Amino acid sequence: MMMLDKKTDFASLRCDFPILQETNRGKPIIYLDSAASAQKPRQVITAMSDFYYQDYANIHRGIYELSERATALYENARLVVKEFIHAKKSEEIIFVRGTTEGINLIAQSLGRSRWQAGDEVILTIMEHHSNIVPWYLLKEQIGIELKVIPVTDDGALDIEAYQNAFTPRTKMVAITHASNVLGTINPVKEMTAIAHSHHVPVLLDGAQAVPHMPVNVQDIDCDFYVFSAHKLYGPTGIGVLYAKEEILLDMPPYQGGGDMIETVSFDHVTFAKGPQKFEAGTPDIAGVIGLAAAIQYLQAISMQAVFDHEQALLDYALPALSAIPGLRLIGTTIPKVGVISFVMENIHPHDIGTVLDHEGIAVRAGHHCAMPLMQRFHLPATVRASFGLYNQENEIDALVAAIQLAKRLFN
Ligand code: PLP
Repeated sequence: MMMLDKKTDFASLRCDFPILQETNRGKPIIYLDSAASAQKPRQVITAMSDFYYQDYANIHRGIYELSERATALYENARLVVKEFIHAKKSEEIIFVRGTTEGINLIAQSLGRSRWQAGDEVILTIMEHHSNIVPWYLLKEQIGIELKVIPVTDDGALDIEAYQNAFTPRTKMVAITHASNVLGTINPVKEMTAIAHSHHVPVLLDGAQAVPHMPVNVQDIDCDFYVFSAHKLYGPTGIGVLYAKEEILLDMPPYQGGGDMIETVSFDHVTFAKGPQKFEAGTPDIAGVIGLAAAIQYLQAISMQAVFDHEQALLDYALPALSAIPGLRLIGTTIPKVGVISFVMENIHPHDIGTVLDHEGIAVRAGHHCAMPLMQRFHLPATVRASFGLYNQENEIDALVAAIQLAKRLFN
């Protein structure tokens, strides 16, 4: 039995998501691909269209009421994000295009201007490509070294290897808070304390943590935290980089343009103070407003209730999937978020994905932008079913039945 939060009827929340009333291949949609991108509640869609209908203007530059209204909505969203992740100040919240841009910003702004050949960044083998390639580019540009922490067979980080990875040349730890393939929630608070004992800052990729659990950046004490709105029931093209204020003040800008300056001449430029220094050009104003609406939607439910709901779904799904002969779960360590990867004997993940699609079930099959992790498990791909707050036990029953159908078709 699912243990629902007493105040929240998750089944009724489905009605907030218009797309879940549509069909896939003529069948009711069973959407199990929220780790790729979550569906959007009406509240988010309405907040964005209201902005275009009623309040649209550019921000930070108009001296007329519409622009003031748009600016207030945009800056209020910064406050909403600050409270959601428990940052100390809203000046620590920078709007970026997503997790990917947030990591590139740190690598290029901080890394490229301050580090030297031979300096080291600690990563893990479970990183998404967006937390590998920006550091690889920096390696090509200035000759830094990448140190990669391995995972155990059940998908946990090797903490002893992590402890031993620090040297006097370590400049950054950049790790995922929760894995998009294994679901593993890493012990980031403890890992941050270890890094800080070596005076090394920590960047956390929160793309798969923020949608599933309460996050408190001050409690973790990480120096940087990044996430994408589209995985958090918000729009695409917008995300957040949190950075401790004292570090931000000292970081050079990432891109140049309008809105990030104080004064400009051809000989000298002075930059805006605070987050605007990193928000060159007209931002995705509607996206920021949609992100704030998504956060407010989640706050009304409570992230703890979302976490409990998804943990109950995991408790239901994991034994049911394990009981299917020939199915192997990849990533069984706990704690984990509602992300389940698996492979089947003698059936390629893409074939399973195709059968599931014909049953109306959306999952992802592939390398999940984590090729090094696939190589670690000697797999070309996995099937990944991932949960959102709208999923229900009966959808897991349908998933299990469709996998059994695939077995009959391919064996
Ligand atoms: N990091 C993790 C763990 C992810 O799962 C993803 C997306 O799947 C990303 C980073 C990249 O996010 P985005 O494409 O929104 O920048």
